[in-house]
Parts: sequence; C-alpha cells; structure tokens
Amino acid sequence: MTKDTVQDDARLTGIPVSPGIIIGKARLVDRSRVKILYQYLIDDDRINEEVQRFKNALETTERQLATLKNRLPDQVKDHGFILDSHSMILRDSMLRDAAIRKILDEKINAEWALKKSLEEIRRVFDQIDDGYISSRIDDVENVIERILRNLSGDRREDLGEISERVIIVAHDLSPADTTELNIRRVMGFITDVGGPTSHTAILAQALEIPAIMGLEKATGMVRDGDLLILDGNTGEVIINPDDRVIIHYQEKQLRHDAYKSSIARTSHLPALTVDGHRISVQANIEFLEEVAAVRDYGAEGIGLYRTEFLYLRSREVPGEEELFEDYRQVAEILSPAPVTIRSLDLGGDKFSSQTDVSREMNPALGLRAIRFCLREPEIFRSQLRAILRASAFGNIRFMFPMISGLQEVIDAKKIVSEVKEELDAEGIEYDPDIKMGIMIEIPSAVTMADVLARHVDFFSIGTNDLIQYGLGVDRINEHVAYMYQPFHPAVLRMIRQVVRAARDAGIGLSLCGEMAGDPLCTPILLGLGVDDFSMNPRAIPLIKTIIRSLTMEEARADFETVMGLSTAREVRAYLWGRVKKLLPELERNRFLDQKVAGG
Ligand code: PEP
Ligand code: MG
Repeated sequence: MTKDTVQDDARLTGIPVSPGIIIGKARLVDRSRVKILYQYLIDDDRINEEVQRFKNALETTERQLATLKNRLPDQVKDHGFILDSHSMILRDSMLRDAAIRKILDEKINAEWALKKSLEEIRRVFDQIDDGYISSRIDDVENVIERILRNLSGDRREDLGEISERVIIVAHDLSPADTTELNIRRVMGFITDVGGPTSHTAILAQALEIPAIMGLEKATGMVRDGDLLILDGNTGEVIINPDDRVIIHYQEKQLRHDAYKSSIARTSHLPALTVDGHRISVQANIEFLEEVAAVRDYGAEGIGLYRTEFLYLRSREVPGEEELFEDYRQVAEILSPAPVTIRSLDLGGDKFSSQTDVSREMNPALGLRAIRFCLREPEIFRSQLRAILRASAFGNIRFMFPMISGLQEVIDAKKIVSEVKEELDAEGIEYDPDIKMGIMIEIPSAVTMADVLARHVDFFSIGTNDLIQYGLGVDRINEHVAYMYQPFHPAVLRMIRQVVRAARDAGIGLSLCGEMAGDPLCTPILLGLGVDDFSMNPRAIPLIKTIIRSLTMEEARADFETVMGLSTAREVRAYLWGRVKKLLPELERNRFLDQKVAGG
C-alpha cells in the first residue's frame, strides 16, 4: 500500500504485540479509573450498614473474579493465576480488615476507608526492595478499582458480554480485562498505552488474536462503529479505509494465512541446511503447560525453561516438592529430548509491564537473578535440589543467569556441590553427569568468556540482556526502543567472541535470546558457528524453513559480509535482502522486529 491511498489522519501506528491482520468494526470500551468523589463521615447509627455495604461490594467482586476465572478461554487457562492473585488480595487482611476497622473507628464511608488502606499498602510496597514484588501494587490497585466500582454501583461494561465480531478499542486493557474477552467474538484489540512485554501483550499472543498497543490516541480518533484494519504484523491501524485499501488488506490477509500454513506444514522436518548440517532448534518456555505446544511447533527440546513464573504465580516461595514435581514432569514428557532449566532469574524487568513502576532505582542493574540467589541461599538450594532430583527422570541440564564474572560461578558451584553432597547423604538419586552452564548476557562475561569456559559445561547466550547491557539500552523502555539493535556490530562482535571462547575450550554453546527466533539473524548466526538455538516456540517453523534453505558456505559468506559493515541499519538492510531472496513470501514484519526489541 502506498501512503497516498489513505489520508494521514486515518492511519495510526503503534507497537504490534500480537501478529495477524483483521478487518472489522470498532467497539470503544471505557476502562478508565473510578474517581472517589465523596468522602464523608457516617452517623453512629448507620455504621453497621456502611460495613455491610462494603462487605457486599467485596462479595460481588469475589463473584466477578470467580466468574471470570471459570470463563477463561482454554488458551489462557494457565494464566488464571493472575485472577487467583486478585482474589487473594481481596481477602487479605491488610485490605479487608483494615478498611472495615477504619469504617468502624473513624466513622468514614467505605470508599474513603478503602482509599486510606490503599495508601497504607502502598507505603509497605514502597519499602520492599524487590522491584518485581513492589511493582505488584498495580494488582492491588486493580482489585480496589473493582471494589470501588461495585460500591458505586457503576457497572462497567462486561467485556465478556460483547457478542458482536468487533475490534476492541480501549485506552488501556489490564491482563484481567484481556482474560475477560470473548475470543469467539472479539477479533483483536488496540490500546493507547502499553507495550510488548506487558502481560496483556503476552495474553494476546497466547489467545492468538492480533493486537496493537501504545497507539497513544486511538480512543481519541476512533469512533464506535468505525471500520478498522488492524495489522498486527506492522502495528498499523487504518480507520474507515476505502474499498481499494480494504481489498489490498484482504489480499495481504490471505497471503499471510497461506504463508503461515505452508510454514507450519514443514515444522516437523529436521533443521538441516541444504548441505546437510544438522542444527538443533529448541524452545523457550515459561510454564509446564506449554510443553505439549512445544512439540507441535517442532522443537527438539527445551533450550530455556524460565523458572521464575512458578515463583510469580504463587504468593509464597514455592517449596522444593512443588518445584521438583514441575521439573520432573517437564523432563519426563520430553525425555529423551533435552531440557535446560535456568535457575531463578527474578527481579529487574522480569515480566513487568510498561505501567509498572519499579522501586529499585536501576532495577536491571539491581538485585536480580544469580545475585538474588546467592543472597538468598535457602531459596537457591531448594531450587537446586529440585532440579537435581528431577534429573533422575529425564535429560536435564541447568544454568545460571546474569553471570558477570568468575566469582559468581565459583560461589554457585560451591552451593551445587554442597547440595549434591546432601542428596548423596540422603541417598536421593540424581544424574551424576548433569551438565552445568551459564548464561552469557552481560558484557563482562563476554570479555571473560575464555576464563569462564574452563569452569562450566556450556554457555547459553542471552541476547535480550546482552543487547540491553552491551548497548546501554533499557529493553522495555519504548522511548529508546529504536536504539535496541540486535544488528549493532558491537552485538555481533560480542557473540563472535563468546562462540570462539566456547569452541576453543570445547564446551557447548547455544543461543536463547529472541535473536534466535528472528529470521533475519539466522544466516549470520549459522555463519558464526552457532548450531544450537532456543526460541519462542511460535518462531520455530519459520526459522527451520530458513535453515533448510541455506548452505553453511552461504551463511559464512553472509557473516563475513556483515562483519564488514559498520552500522545496524546497513546490516539489517543487507540481511533483509538476503532473507527476502531465500523466502520471497516473507512479509516485512514489524511484529518480528518488535519481538527482537522487546525481549
Ligand atoms: C536473554 O536475556 O536473552 C534471555 C534469554 O533471558 P530473559 O529474556 O529471560 O532475560
Ligand atoms: Mg536474560
């Protein structure tokens, strides 16, 4: 489509967070916050009535959350923990009892009491050092919002009741709102705020509905009933397009669908280059429940099991038994295929949405991942015990995230040895040859890679963080997203240094950042000598297709050419030309770029 086919003011561009093209009617929904307009004192004889009004609102809220949970579409059943956590907040004494006490003692209305309780809770959260946990204040606010709405009797639109085929247009959608969507009806959504790493975005992908966030003024420009084209591949929204544009997008839609199914048909073929080099393509997962899907996408194993989500799902730190059960099942289901379990990588930006405000001054540089585990050895030990015990049931290896130098490796290995001794003493089985590796995702680890390689069995390159720390660009900040460049020559040089160090030391090497799932990166990573990739399972079919259309000689030539270029822009342009030749059907796809940028 050319620029002149639609007027400028009829087109918006945002952040594509879930791919696909749809054409449909707009439905504006108001998810704005309730304002507390009235704060008043209650007469003595009406206090009990006020308490009862508050309790009724709590009950209604509880019922709404339970209904929402029951109605969760299958694709997002495993995200039900978001709603569980909301129910728990609702029942928490810091909220419930404290508000009731305020109504009774201070004789104030329920809304006012709730507001005061929120302020107290916020003060407690402010003091929590852990950026992730403190940022969960958003969930508390979400719940309070629901109670307030029920107190005011203001029934906001139930998204689950939308029964037309529409595209939702909202200023913001919370993850809970998203789970409410009736996906048989709702075709997709667009929002003014938010970005690719939010829970909402992840849910949209799991639901496989196209979505664009961060459009800034969508609710200002779109009217109810407008015809919209939502291109979740590019981030474009076209309002009331003319017939020519509609036909153009319908064709695009058909091409996209045909291309997707042609790729999916070959997903189970081995990842062999044209000249017969066997490449290992594995999947990154967050939950046990994803294991089945991983196989469908053609993964040969799990190259990265991000274990933090089990910890985020529950309020308490999960115990060794719970972790063991989870890891054992993953290992057993996939056995004899390999599973790489990463030790806890909590903290920093982990899974926070654009709207989360972290309480650490520099969360990405703070107490996260291995730093947190070495600071909290009991939590670390219990996870290590669970991983080691599960290794008796399948083909498990494990690795530590965010290693910045040798001392952390020495300290972590010491704890591993102690845990093994404990298990030996208790007569508990584990794989005595279990492989232990580290993630290379901080530039200091790149520089020290030759030294580190002597102490571990394998490296796994985490490009998401390597780009963040190597280029000094926050991976979740939309204002500097344009600088988050996987093709920056500095990034490619760092990867080359790590590959060489692993090869010289004869240890294993894989790459598990989002670059692994970016088709533009595949030729140069192969050319660099990376032959073990782990990626978002949905990217596997496409990456296998690229691998199957290249020879190693071509890949090496691509890498040599690219190393002669000096800017990310030149590298990207060259690679785009190459991949377009290999796969003419591939649409330029900002969603894929975004995946790389968003991590
Ligand atoms: C990475 O940093 O590239 C990585 C794979 O880990 P995460 O995205 O979980 O930080
Ligand atoms: Mg990382």
